[in-house]
Amino acid sequence: MHPLENRSTFQAPCSAGWQPAADWQSANSRKALLLFLIACAPIIAQTTAFSPAQVDTVFPASQALYMDLHANPELAFQETQTAAKLAARMKALGYDVTTGVGKTGLVCLLKNGPGPTVMFRTELDALPVDEKTGLPFASKTPHVMHACGHDLHMAAWIGTARLMAENKDAWRGTLMMIGQPAEEGGAGAKAMLADGLFTRFPKPDFALSLHDDDTMPSGQIGYHPGPFRAMSDGVTITLYGRGGHAAMPMNTIDPVVMAARAVLALQTIVSRENNPVDPVVVTVGSIHGGTAGNVIPDEVTLQLSVRTYTQEVRKRVMAAIERITKAEAQAAGATREPKIEIRGASANVVYNDPALTARLAAALKKAMGDANVVEMPPKMTSEDFAEYGIAGVPSALLQIGAVPPAKLAEAKRTGIAVPAPHSPEWVPELEPTLKAAIRAETTELLDLFRTQQ
Ligand SMILES: [Zn+2]
Ligand SMILES: [Zn+2]
Repeated sequence: MHPLENRSTFQAPCSAGWQPAADWQSANSRKALLLFLIACAPIIAQTTAFSPAQVDTVFPASQALYMDLHANPELAFQETQTAAKLAARMKALGYDVTTGVGKTGLVCLLKNGPGPTVMFRTELDALPVDEKTGLPFASKTPHVMHACGHDLHMAAWIGTARLMAENKDAWRGTLMMIGQPAEEGGAGAKAMLADGLFTRFPKPDFALSLHDDDTMPSGQIGYHPGPFRAMSDGVTITLYGRGGHAAMPMNTIDPVVMAARAVLALQTIVSRENNPVDPVVVTVGSIHGGTAGNVIPDEVTLQLSVRTYTQEVRKRVMAAIERITKAEAQAAGATREPKIEIRGASANVVYNDPALTARLAAALKKAMGDANVVEMPPKMTSEDFAEYGIAGVPSALLQIGAVPPAKLAEAKRTGIAVPAPHSPEWVPELEPTLKAAIRAETTELLDLFRTQQ
């Protein structure tokens, strides 16, 4: 039996070759038929996974949607066409669809009798990245790309929604499929919650999501109970000097040199000030200043990304950034203090509810095999999926590998990492990953909707 065709032990009486007797008139036969029906009845409610053949039926449409979404990406809070494409499909599947939740988000409900409410979330937004994949369906929008795999997530989400809608006799409860805007930048989940996600709509018993991953082979599922994704803060620093002629530096206060020293000094926060067992990242991802080689500019702007796992460490790192930057400006003789601002929404730690994560991992291992479902380490990347857990819903964000195994092996051999999400070259390996994502998502949902344990 294929692992995906695993069913509960209730299946045994029906699968043992039992045939109703030809003599329908005999009392014994009628009794046997009754026993047969009783034995078989729970099978429908006990379906633990859809078969690969069932997943294959929704794959072509999901693949076509993926290519369309990839070619037509939209940035955070501008995902109107993206949301409209999903909404139309969900309405056709019989979902009760509300659009415009948290600006461009959508909530799709499928009520299917008594049972738990389970939320499954996809992200809608793309990144301000110039695509370099060379794909035939590459982004048609300059400077915008689905570089985080949210197009893949949406395609899997639709496939999952369809299988659940077409197999309503396999589960009971309320399925809440949401399309969340603006995951990048961290404001989308907060916007949906502020717009009544858990008050205008049922507050779910569980919240789930699945993200593509560059560290695992295509289709492999990764889970991590407890803190899984880091806090994230964007910091913008403007260093002020006094501009002038490049050949007369004595008459200037050079903010380029000031910025260069600040960038290096900021690295000592992680290497010299932080306890090495506390994970911290301080990255200066952007540095801008000046217009010509023969002109010393007035100011330079730095954009930082800070990742931490606890409030205590976060506070200490943010204070160190301020102290070091101000001290570098003072050391350079700047007459004006640097401006230090928090940029955008800060992300909180994604906390994967341990009991929920263990339950999902067990269901996934049973359906997909132990080797395809592995515990993975926490990440320094961030996700605003954290907000649903903070709002009081047991939550689990799992990962799905999306890189051909040969490429991972080559990366290990050469020491050159494969392109990862946010890279202009990030391309999830589509077929095994998308099919496995649909299989995993539906397996999780069927398990949580299961009435008998
Ligand atoms: Zn991202
Ligand atoms: Zn993402």
